[in-house]
Amino acid sequence: MIWGMAVSSEPSLVLSFEDARHLVESHAAGLRPSATETADLLDSCGHILAESVLADRDFPPFRRAARDGYALRSADVKQLPATLKVVGEIKAGAPLAQIPTLHAGEAVAIMTGAPAPEGADAVVMVEYTSPQGDRVQIKQAVEFGANIVATGSEAKQGGLVLSPGMRLDHAAISVAASVGKVHLEVYARPQVAVLSTGDELVDIDAEPGPTQIRNSNSYSLGAQIQEAGGEPMLLQAAPDEPKRLRELIIEGLQSDLLLLAGGVSMGKYDLVEQVLAELQAEFFFTSARIQPGKPVVFGRIPRGNNHRYFVGLPGNPVSTMVTFELFARPLLEALAGQTPRKLTFLHAKLKSGIKTKTGLRRFLPATLSGEFEGAEVELAPWHGSGDIAAMALANCYVVIPPDREYLAEGDWVAVLMR
Ligand code: AMP
Ligand code: MG
Repeated sequence: MIWGMAVSSEPSLVLSFEDARHLVESHAAGLRPSATETADLLDSCGHILAESVLADRDFPPFRRAARDGYALRSADVKQLPATLKVVGEIKAGAPLAQIPTLHAGEAVAIMTGAPAPEGADAVVMVEYTSPQGDRVQIKQAVEFGANIVATGSEAKQGGLVLSPGMRLDHAAISVAASVGKVHLEVYARPQVAVLSTGDELVDIDAEPGPTQIRNSNSYSLGAQIQEAGGEPMLLQAAPDEPKRLRELIIEGLQSDLLLLAGGVSMGKYDLVEQVLAELQAEFFFTSARIQPGKPVVFGRIPRGNNHRYFVGLPGNPVSTMVTFELFARPLLEALAGQTPRKLTFLHAKLKSGIKTKTGLRRFLPATLSGEFEGAEVELAPWHGSGDIAAMALANCYVVIPPDREYLAEGDWVAVLMR
């Protein structure tokens, strides 16, 4: 790659969607978060774990009954029905001193979560028993070990239960709580600068003139950054004029990542690439074969003995949203400390046919519906990349491969969740 080359003299770097995505992923792999912080357990939900969490004891710490029923010796119930003498009852939390030792021909009533008594090797579910005074009739055989969870079978004391780099969700919080973690070490959120460009833009609290529009992209991006675990830094919108645009880009380069919106197309006043090139930008691609979002730009600018990555997103609001998900998110997640993950698509049945053109991979706003295994998807009735109202009603994208011209009703199609 040639440094500092003016974009006008550089052949445009057009990549397939897959190549563009892989290139972003490979650069993201070299990014690390800058700091960690301590969070109260519940506040850590949604953050990225920065420490290894170990089991403070064996899990389970005792032989745990997995069912309500009777603890017994499996050898005693080979002949059915079997009648055993009930020698006690064990509740969850019962002190070890109160737990009887079981002998041949005996059973103990036991509750889920209670410690299985010495001498018992299985629990038969209460549904397969009938009490008869101080005895119980067992109507179904059980295998050795049935319904008893062995000590340490879920985790051994000192074993790794949560790894750094994972996004903390309710299941991870449950694990941390179970090993007594009151606080967790998490990565600090990376700061992501957002620079929208365009002479037509006004702040959202201003009254737009007849040909002006409110700068909604800075806010959709700010929200996407928050959702992805970053701290948005919304810059003032830049006019389509190189001097001020350059000043604002330089300001944005102080953040961990710079996202630009608008000004990356082929128009006379699309100045973003030109100004980035003047700042010695190295461009990795200047277009991807996707729709919406084809003019998307990815590169980096030297800064001290390091560099800052930027993604130039097309300004059409739906293009901005899609290209953030596809190309900016992996960089942000890497800066947030998250373990890299591949983009995966779900599959759903198309509710009505789609006619399209070949050449571009399409990400079309759509609505996923249906129930249970009957996932169905239908394109949102949108009117092109500017239709944010249709986009807000959609909840996913139908992904159409570049070699398909027609998809029929009932076809299984790939879906990217929003
Ligand atoms: P551009 O990518 O700069 O050619 O912008 C394409 C179109 O997207 C513009 O004509 C605007 O209508 C719209 N647009 C650009 N920037 C924004 C923004 N920040 N907020 C809302 N719409 C925008
Ligand atoms: Mg523009």
